[in-house]
Amino acid sequence: MKKIRALVLFSGGLDSILAAKVLRNQGVKITAISFKSYFFDGKIAQKAAKRFKIPLKVIALSKEHLNLVKNPKHGYGKSMNPCIDCHILMLRKAKEIMTKGKVSFGKLRTTKFHFVATGEVLGERPMSQNRKALEIIEKESGLQGYLLRPLSAKLLKPTVPEKMDWVSRKKLLNISGRSRKRQIALAKKWKFREYPTPAGGCLLTDMEFGKRLKELFKIHPGCDGSDVELLKLGRHFIFGKAKVIVGRNQEENKEIKKFVRKKDILIEMKNYPGPSTLIRTYDRGKISPRVIQKAKSLTQYYSTKARDKKDVRFTPHQLLR
Ligand code: SF4
Repeated sequence: MKKIRALVLFSGGLDSILAAKVLRNQGVKITAISFKSYFFDGKIAQKAAKRFKIPLKVIALSKEHLNLVKNPKHGYGKSMNPCIDCHILMLRKAKEIMTKGKVSFGKLRTTKFHFVATGEVLGERPMSQNRKALEIIEKESGLQGYLLRPLSAKLLKPTVPEKMDWVSRKKLLNISGRSRKRQIALAKKWKFREYPTPAGGCLLTDMEFGKRLKELFKIHPGCDGSDVELLKLGRHFIFGKAKVIVGRNQEENKEIKKFVRKKDILIEMKNYPGPSTLIRTYDRGKISPRVIQKAKSLTQYYSTKARDKKDVRFTPHQLLR
């Protein structure tokens, strides 16, 4: 019989590792894909793929993903995580790869995938893994019939791979719900010694980061990757349409400087150690003297050595034109 090939959406979490294992146990040849964006880096997937010897391709989604996060058709979860739309986007990419035929995975070349699989579990996540959401994801990704969820397959409609006997439905699983007991028991049975904890690695589920992102979308709906990267650094203050970002340590100061661009202002103290502070405005490039003064005060305030001093001097602020 000819080799059946599956493309597995692989986060590196236990569910996706188990989904790959269930298929491998049936002799299906697995290739994994994972994604990186401004909000997740695919490193967990890379580590797990290496450990479980699964060939993996990491695909960058940055701009496309940011546009989706700004305006998700199916809304956000608890924080700013648009999980349904995010899954749809990833699965659309998977479909492209599945149907394209020849795909280059570095040294590995594969000629055809028969179907796509994920580690989704019915009812495990309230927003994106309830029955309706799973149906929407399948439909809007364009993968109708060709999307197999091996961990919950017996609770879902039979898919083409099952109908065509590419995989045996009998050997697929019927896991549902939020308890991860069965997944943990399987990991034990299959002697997985190490696997990542669930829900790591996506900044969009982080409440604090979500707040910063929401504020950014409010003052600058057209924000780009540089604006988002800055959300990961420093203390943030908003004055009208201007943002003041104050580095919290030397490493952050160094990072913040890398993002300085035309029309930003960088403030530092000349005669005391302390933060590097970036001012970026979204108000047609104008930064008011009031905001510059506020930024200087914050720079001094967050320097333990300079906080109470009267003789602080600032470097001539750099307005990059
Ligand atoms: S947690 Fe993040 S990466 Fe995962 S589906 Fe939701 S938005 Fe996408």
